[in-house]
Amino acid sequence: MPFAYDDKNIFARILRGEIPNRTVFENDHALAFEDIHPQAPVHVLVIPKGPYASLDHFAAAASAAEQAGFMAAVAEVCRISGLDKGFRAIANTGEDGVQEVPHFHLHILGGRRLGRMLAPAEA
Ligand code: 5GP
Repeated sequence: MPFAYDDKNIFARILRGEIPNRTVFENDHALAFEDIHPQAPVHVLVIPKGPYASLDHFAAAASAAEQAGFMAAVAEVCRISGLDKGFRAIANTGEDGVQEVPHFHLHILGGRRLGRMLAPAEA
């Protein structure tokens, strides 16, 4: 199997209601909540409710309804958060992408000028 999903991750626990979150928006297929360590005035995580480990897993395996629901949630987060001057969407993926939580999540960051896209590589 090319993709694996481990439901012990922290976002799976949030989806099961085992850990609280500050919800920004929710629909049938996605949940959006504030990042616990915000990197910008707006820092929201949008996650699918289904068991997908990464963006490429979600893109390859999620149904059309799940993908549409996820993108509808992204649109609502941008609207609700007042990101008229722009924002950045980031999906850290895997080891090289330095993904910490193995449940697909899209970071929506904004509310200030964000600078260049990539910082110098870490050690
Ligand atoms: P990654 O590095 O996997 O792209 O980002 C994971 C993000 O999840 C980090 O920005 C981190 O602050 C956030 N995060 C980790 N644990 C929790 C949590 O329990 N609640 C919330 N709201 N965010 C979390």
